[in-house]
Amino acid sequence: MLLTKFCRARVLTLSCALICTVSMLSGVADAQYATTTAPPEELKAGFDSITEQQAEAFLSVLAGPGFEGRGTGQVGYMKAAHWVAGKLAEFGLEPAGNGETYFQTMPMTRRIAVMDKCKILGSDDFEVEGKNNVGFDRLTDAGEVTGEVVFLTLQGDSPTLPEDLNLREKIVIYSADDKAAGRAPFLIARKRPSASMRVIEDTPVSIAQNLFPGRRRRATSVSGTITSDTAAKIAAAADVQDDWSKNSGAYESGKEFTITIPMREETSGAPNVLAWIEGSDPDLKDEYVVIGAHLDHLGIRNGKVYPGADDNGSGSTAVLSIARAMALNPVKPKRSILFMWFTAEEVGLLGSKYYTDNPIHPVDKMTCMLNIDMVGRNEDTGEGDTDADNEGHIHLVGSQRGDNDLHELILAANEHVGFEFELDMESVWNRSDQINFYNQGVPVAFMFGGMHPDYHKPSDQPADINFKKITAAAKLYYLALYSAADHGRFEPNPSRDSR
Ligand SMILES: [Zn+2]
Repeated sequence: MLLTKFCRARVLTLSCALICTVSMLSGVADAQYATTTAPPEELKAGFDSITEQQAEAFLSVLAGPGFEGRGTGQVGYMKAAHWVAGKLAEFGLEPAGNGETYFQTMPMTRRIAVMDKCKILGSDDFEVEGKNNVGFDRLTDAGEVTGEVVFLTLQGDSPTLPEDLNLREKIVIYSADDKAAGRAPFLIARKRPSASMRVIEDTPVSIAQNLFPGRRRRATSVSGTITSDTAAKIAAAADVQDDWSKNSGAYESGKEFTITIPMREETSGAPNVLAWIEGSDPDLKDEYVVIGAHLDHLGIRNGKVYPGADDNGSGSTAVLSIARAMALNPVKPKRSILFMWFTAEEVGLLGSKYYTDNPIHPVDKMTCMLNIDMVGRNEDTGEGDTDADNEGHIHLVGSQRGDNDLHELILAANEHVGFEFELDMESVWNRSDQINFYNQGVPVAFMFGGMHPDYHKPSDQPADINFKKITAAAKLYYLALYSAADHGRFEPNPSRDSR
């Protein structure tokens, strides 16, 4: 990672300071955090309440087995949202969602295949019941698919498909061994079939599809599983050799089949979680600063739980720690603070978009927005610097795109925390929820710890979290919130950006 000139100068100053400190004291554990000064006395109670033990307690629940990776539209997310709301009530924050609750529910639609009525049809009266013979994990808007059936077998660590193999708008039935199973769906999807069905030995199950309002991309092909018995029946009807699944290859049948998939839809929803701390200045308390983090992650996909300990158990934990700290600190900021935990970030920043399209509190009273996403790991991009090099580093993103005072007051707050800022990740600037606030003209800052090898993998686990970093991030934004809420109105953004 390249540092900006500003950061490089800062790092150099810092290393001189460290050499002195280290030579005087042996066994300095947190060598990467600079020597810091104490926070203002009136903010100390809250500041000191933000501890690694507290962060670990929050995160082990948020990214623990009970919430199953907090997938939007899944049970685990609902549990997480209710748990956060319960904590907010316990800490004494006011509900700031709809109808005096902590929730603002983003409407969604749940689409479910009616398996009793699903059939596979072919020529010469070929007909197989769908129930217990096929299952779907992705559906399209169409209630059926028709196309030539092609049988594929993929084996080994690096399966490939012939370049000239045409699967467009065909129904693919494929067999993949354990090694090929991870890559197979992507290889097949690239060739744009209308359906791809993996052969399995167990009974196939269907999972409900979540349809998000405003999401641009809709599924264009069906995917799922099919029993080996059913696949064999179709192969026989299509005159494909019965040992097609024994050897890698593609077996084109030239025969057309139809899968009918009647569906029903029901309305569902996923909540943003919102809480409020009232400002202490009667003339300013109608205005407010927003601090947010996305609460959702990938949930359960293909039977695997993605715990999302860093993404974004870490940011959710930090914002919860700040809410607790500010609630217990006797002195409140002059303006009010709106705390938000967003839903549906991972499916396209939809929860924050829903909020900014349907604000509960007037947007013209919102003075700035601080976002926090992935602050629990040491950046490890495999490009030079290591995980250990980045122990005390953090990226500050987007804070120089609006009123620069916001950027400056975060740097000033850091005197009490000691992060080494890197200002080199503007490339991710529209990849988290702050962009939807920026697009409303609100100055934003985005704190981001950086990428690592477990990003968006089931291995993003609590065991690998750097709780000191989450704690430092929470302390930094705790102080920055006070400064931002006590600052005069920031200039609105001169220009707007879009994702
Ligand atoms: Zn993510």
